[in-house]
Amino acid sequence: MSRVFNFSAGPAILPEDVLKQAASEMTDWQGSGMSVMEMSHRGKEFISIAKKTEADLREIMKIPDSYKVLFLQGGATSQFAMVPMNLLKGKNGADYINTGQWSKKAISEAKRYCNVNVAATSEASNFSTIPPQSEWKLNPDAAYFHYTPNETIGGVEFHYIPDVGRIPLVADMSSTILSRPVDVSKFGLIYAGAQKNIGPAGLTIVIIREDLIGEVTQSTPLMFSYKTHSDNDSMYNTPPTYAWYIAGLVFEWIKRKGGLEAMAEINKRKADKLYAAIDKSNFYKNPVDPLYRSWMNVPFTLKNPELDSKFLEQAKASGLVALKGHRSVGGMRASIYNAMPEEGVEALIAFMQEFERSSSRKIL
Ligand SMILES: *Cc1c(COP(=O)(O)O)cnc(C)c1O
Repeated sequence: MSRVFNFSAGPAILPEDVLKQAASEMTDWQGSGMSVMEMSHRGKEFISIAKKTEADLREIMKIPDSYKVLFLQGGATSQFAMVPMNLLKGKNGADYINTGQWSKKAISEAKRYCNVNVAATSEASNFSTIPPQSEWKLNPDAAYFHYTPNETIGGVEFHYIPDVGRIPLVADMSSTILSRPVDVSKFGLIYAGAQKNIGPAGLTIVIIREDLIGEVTQSTPLMFSYKTHSDNDSMYNTPPTYAWYIAGLVFEWIKRKGGLEAMAEINKRKADKLYAAIDKSNFYKNPVDPLYRSWMNVPFTLKNPELDSKFLEQAKASGLVALKGHRSVGGMRASIYNAMPEEGVEALIAFMQEFERSSSRKIL
């Protein structure tokens, strides 16, 4: 079977070039006589892969030298706990913005460690927008400010970086990292699970300003301390070596494609096309405030939800898969990360238009 266009929210599509390269190196990585999966993480071959991967990420994202890049496990979900465990530093409060399901999870985990001030929430609008910054009620004594730049489930995205003064800005970038250039120097900490826009599941990347790395309380497991991982170049224990290597191949692919400026241009074009197709039809609908629509995750509903399963079935038969919306939202969701080619979005739009035409004919 030829490759499908995979619209999964994560684990998600990877660039075909990357998969082919990994396949060609599967049993013998560059003359080493072994697979990357079989290498010692402390051997010179893997150390060279690890260093090159970090250097490429630093180059692509223009990460300043005063930041550490950590290659961890545990997913973004572990960061919901690691962030308060490490960044409270004796304070007892943190600010969070609630813009959807992932913010909510981050908030409920943080509540186990501190007083969470929800500085603003869009729950009343069913998370279809982002409250304007002028309405946020920040706590001047917060240890940090946390937000979710892209809500993967709701399809709501910040297209700006919040200004929270001197309070360290913490971002769960799981589903938007590498989709466009960002000014890393504005952040105290950025984290992302890899399985959306970086590589395979099992790797979690943390980019942290060095001055925020410090001692944690005696009862904090060493594995949950950024200092442990920073002091040991992310090799305190065995890191997710194969996922790290694939992430490195993805970073090389991004460089070949022209870096994050090129990614942003293509991503914006893909998203604009899909939203335009949805908006001009009376059959499909996206509920999100146009100012905050995600470039990466596009939820949409069909006018008649009874047609959902037929839509999914026929889409699959046309090579367009994993379009089912999140179980908490229903409808459809097209995740169109960096690795989704523009032709995939065009094929989806053509399919949607054809499905609308054939369904409307039957209704008449
Ligand atoms: C997928 C996702 C998570 C959860 O990631 P895990 O790696 O499964 O822990 C958290 N936040 C956002 C924004 C996500 O998209």
